[in-house]
Amino acid sequence: MGHDTPLAPAMPPIDFIDLGAQRRRIGPRLEEAVLRVVRHGKYILGPEVAEVERRLAAFCGARHCVTCASGTDALVLALMAKNIGPGDGVFVPAFTFVATAEAVAWLGATPIFVDVEPDGFAMAPASLEAAIADCSRLGLTARAVIPVDLFGQPADYGRLLPLAARHGLFVLADAAQSFGAARDGRRVGTIGDATATSFFPAKPLGCYGDGGAVFTDDAGMAALLGSLRAHGQGGHRYEHVRIGMNGRFDTLQAAILIEKLAVFGDEIVARQRVADRYGAGLAGVVGVPGTAAGSSSVWAQYTILVDGRDRVVAALSAAGVPTAVHYPIPLPGQIGYQRYPSAPGGTPVSESLSKRVLSLPMHPYLEPAVQDRIIDAVRRAVEG
Ligand SMILES: *Cc1c(COP(=O)(O)O)cnc(C)c1O
Repeated sequence: MGHDTPLAPAMPPIDFIDLGAQRRRIGPRLEEAVLRVVRHGKYILGPEVAEVERRLAAFCGARHCVTCASGTDALVLALMAKNIGPGDGVFVPAFTFVATAEAVAWLGATPIFVDVEPDGFAMAPASLEAAIADCSRLGLTARAVIPVDLFGQPADYGRLLPLAARHGLFVLADAAQSFGAARDGRRVGTIGDATATSFFPAKPLGCYGDGGAVFTDDAGMAALLGSLRAHGQGGHRYEHVRIGMNGRFDTLQAAILIEKLAVFGDEIVARQRVADRYGAGLAGVVGVPGTAAGSSSVWAQYTILVDGRDRVVAALSAAGVPTAVHYPIPLPGQIGYQRYPSAPGGTPVSESLSKRVLSLPMHPYLEPAVQDRIIDAVRRAVEG
């Protein structure tokens, strides 16, 4: 059949994430910003760092923003600010990027894996409740929970926050994938006790290297975070009042992020447009992601559910469509993490999702014609 002839290789290649399109849009401003830093020479905690912190806090409505060297450091710093360590249990979803649990383990505390929901893929309140009840049997003190806003949509905080409050848990939102989204009238950065995000280049708001930030409304915590990211600094540079780390955000990256933040609002609108086109083209063909009532997403990933994933991936690859699997192994099954406990009842939804998820190309500059090629290829891969 004519349809099966390999037309795709003759077409221009499709990018999974096209950072070049954004660079073509704001390239001159980015280059100017970088040059300004090169010329003023304040490479460590230069004026752009405080400036981007002001703008990030204003963007999401949080009182305080403390930038740092990565999203992973943002998680670690927030946990350090709460003195979380050995003997403490911290609840994390089983289905997330490894950094969520890594930050906990790195501080000597125990990550406890909680299952996720089949829709939205975020931490399941029932599994969290069971895990909290099981904590004392494990000889651990339940201290904190890290809901993850997977693929760009905020977790179900309306149900998770009351549960955490009932048990006195510190709520650290892992918003590495969701900065710019909102749920129930609250913007990401203002939900929970603190919010960690990442500016890794492939995140919805990325810089040109590693970077991250913690948001909080608590002035005391913000001051503590500022000290912790700079070697536990006290009143002056060589006074160290606590054990900290070198976790500062780079001035060059701050300068880049200021320019990227200026177009981020537009890009969020464009991301939603891309997600809507996928939804319209693929609903009923594969499992398509939705957003819960009262929720928005910044679509860090557009992740569908398919059966026979290997075959679908191969067919898409032959058609020139790149894909990725986020994530193929739930954390309880990762070799480095097998020693850590899971909620009673295990994490069956995470197991099942890990076998069926498939992320499609997603970025704000994805053109409708290119997207239609992708949609067409997915339909043929699944139906053929
Ligand atoms: C990317 C990511 C992180 C870590 O961010 P880095 O900046 O890469 O350290 C943490 N949690 C989640 C869910 C992520 O996707």
